[in-house]
Amino acid sequence: MALIIDGNAISKQIRDGIKCEIEGLRHKFGRGPGLAVILVGDNPASQLYVGRKSKACSEVGIYSEVKKFPGEISESVLIDLIEELNRDKTIDGILVQLPLPEHINEHRIMEAISPQKDVDGLNPVNIGNLVLNCATLVPCTAAGIIELIQRSVKEIKGKHSVIIGRSNIVGKPTALMLLHHHSTVTICHSRTKNLNEIAKQADILVAALGRPKFITRDMVKEGVIAIDVGINRVDGKLWGDFDFEGVKEVASAITPVPGGVGPMTVAMLLKNTLLAYKSNYKIFP
Ligand code: NAD
Repeated sequence: MALIIDGNAISKQIRDGIKCEIEGLRHKFGRGPGLAVILVGDNPASQLYVGRKSKACSEVGIYSEVKKFPGEISESVLIDLIEELNRDKTIDGILVQLPLPEHINEHRIMEAISPQKDVDGLNPVNIGNLVLNCATLVPCTAAGIIELIQRSVKEIKGKHSVIIGRSNIVGKPTALMLLHHHSTVTICHSRTKNLNEIAKQADILVAALGRPKFITRDMVKEGVIAIDVGINRVDGKLWGDFDFEGVKEVASAITPVPGGVGPMTVAMLLKNTLLAYKSNYKIFP
């Protein structure tokens, strides 16, 4: 039977550490970290995620403010607001909740956020630094996946990692981070021809495709470490990309949905906000 990797428990350990550190730093610098979250439109999932992020901030002592805008907001108004937040000395981190409405160019929005305040790690400068393996602010889900593996099953070095999904927000940064941890990495996507054959070679299999129960027991190697990024809502219930019940019979470790990668993404957002705040005071990791 597989080890069920408890993302809630690991995330709590991290959040407790962050809370403690912020208490000390607030004493020293007279203020704690500040995060601005921009929410455009009324996507219910985005509203839910933003609510969770704000709550997590207040629990560790990060000041957060949510700036809500109607879906019709223009790109230029949004960029003006980001530039204002870039100049705001009380705000260390800026997060724009994705996805954005189609008329707004996501790349230009990410580019507008100051790289020092880019707590989602999606500004081209931070992505470039990630490629070079010298990034401080890295995309939260990818960072969370690495923490989960390191704190549960430990060794990444030398393992063959297969990532299914090549999005800028999850698949690509996860692949890069695993590579920097000396894994041999294969990326698969919707046009990959022999997906089953490749998936079956994985020591670490990261599923980030957004298809409920897509990865079945027959597609994985015995002893695989199965990391499920997928969040799929079907009939009001959440499912991952793995067929959890089947895969857990053969995996050595697996993350559940919910309670696996999701809470780690939030913990890494808090960590990035703390890192951004500390770098304002010239405290570098
Ligand atoms: P996306 O739609 O941007 O990318 C999906 C990727 O999967 C694409 O690269 C596509 O090529 C690939 N893909 C789709 N169908 C495929 C198939 N049949 N075979 C192989 N590859 C296929 O999605 P995303 O933003 O990367 O998110 C992926 C999933 O992860 C979604 O369910 C999303 O809700 C979830 N997610 C979870 C967290 C978290 O914190 N747990 C964070 C971000 C995203």
